[in-house]
Amino acid sequence: MPPAEQRDNIIININEAAAQTQFQNMKFAVKTWCKSGRARVGLLQLKCTSLVQGATSPEIEIETPALLLTTRKGLPAFIPPDHLSFLPSPDSRLLQFSPMHFMEGPNSKTISDIGGVHQLLGLQGYGFVAVPRDSILSLPECSSSNKNGASFETPSGRFLVKPLEYMKMISSMKPDLWVSLADEVSASVTVKRNKASVDRTITWLDHCISLKPRDGALFGSVVGGCSVEERQRCAHEVAKRNVSGYYIGGFGLGDSIDERSTFLHAVTDVLPKEKPRQVCGLGLPEEVLQGVAAGIDLFDSTYIYHLTLEGFALIFPLNDKCKQYESDTQLCSMASDYTKINLKATVYRKDASRIVEGCECYTCQNHTKAYINHLLNVHEMLAQILLEIHNTHHYFSFFRLIREAITEGKFEEFRQKFIERRREHLLAPSLGACELQTSVR
Ligand SMILES: [Zn+2]
Repeated sequence: MPPAEQRDNIIININEAAAQTQFQNMKFAVKTWCKSGRARVGLLQLKCTSLVQGATSPEIEIETPALLLTTRKGLPAFIPPDHLSFLPSPDSRLLQFSPMHFMEGPNSKTISDIGGVHQLLGLQGYGFVAVPRDSILSLPECSSSNKNGASFETPSGRFLVKPLEYMKMISSMKPDLWVSLADEVSASVTVKRNKASVDRTITWLDHCISLKPRDGALFGSVVGGCSVEERQRCAHEVAKRNVSGYYIGGFGLGDSIDERSTFLHAVTDVLPKEKPRQVCGLGLPEEVLQGVAAGIDLFDSTYIYHLTLEGFALIFPLNDKCKQYESDTQLCSMASDYTKINLKATVYRKDASRIVEGCECYTCQNHTKAYINHLLNVHEMLAQILLEIHNTHHYFSFFRLIREAITEGKFEEFRQKFIERRREHLLAPSLGACELQTSVR
């Protein structure tokens, strides 16, 4: 009999027939999970909606936990379509967008006539995931939402979106996966407002189901703010509906990271295990690990966007890589917190080394830290392009390590080790000034 700690990490292979789900163009199967926890590895398979009829579409197969690439109007913020091939595949083939990004673009009929987002963007080999809210350009604005629709703050102004309008957008854009309209509220709302958000989200889900287009898998939204009871009530109701998966919303809106595990676990305890779960608002490495520990399968990549925008490059160790930073304590205290470095720092002005020695991304194969430091100092957008390629590459590798840790039965060990090392660096008294001037953690 193995010791208790080892027993906790025993991996069990579950009967796939009992833990898989299939809806039109989407299949999902849980492959393995730790016996002691909720962390799991799954396989998500998609057929691109736009090419199903022609039967020429290769299936997209992505192992979970996985990162969906957050986009602005269908493309990553700094990566043009011809640079998408520089990102690892198939990891980079799921693109998340908000229909609200197109509120001031071509109208629904025009997008529909063109053939949906795949044809509009010329990206047939990619899967598109439509989520009403994101954490960059389409933020829920709960004080203006009402029983008729949800309000969003966007660069083009504030929009109240009703379920019927939302469904017209979904029908015209033809995403492969889409999330039902939700009334996401901030952590500070009253008990009454929080309860109303759950009632509305369930009502709107029923509207979405009644108007559901033929193609595309529907993920039902689960909200409930900072109330375990409301989150479980919502999850129970959504679990009764005919949906392909679940979207757990309402995070990153003033809630505390310390309380989040309780709410995540309250929801995943209720949801059927065989269907995929997506979350929005968890981006930091610690938050991703928290979500994975609660049984979340799909995350967004707004963290990469914010890092890239502010000139940061991810550097935390991936196996034996990145040791260049561990041995340089002066560098760590000047411009690094163990997970990332600030390439705007003057310490990189004459640094002819790569961001991560051994990294296989286009940026590290071709350019030095000194060159990217120069590009940042002269405000050349190529800096963000190169940084986004590296950061996306690196964060995909982080997700691969998570999947490997779950498969090997070492997820809790991996999680604890990662968090402890980063905490040590974040609490270091000599943390550099460049680090303190930014909102990116
Ligand atoms: Zn790289």
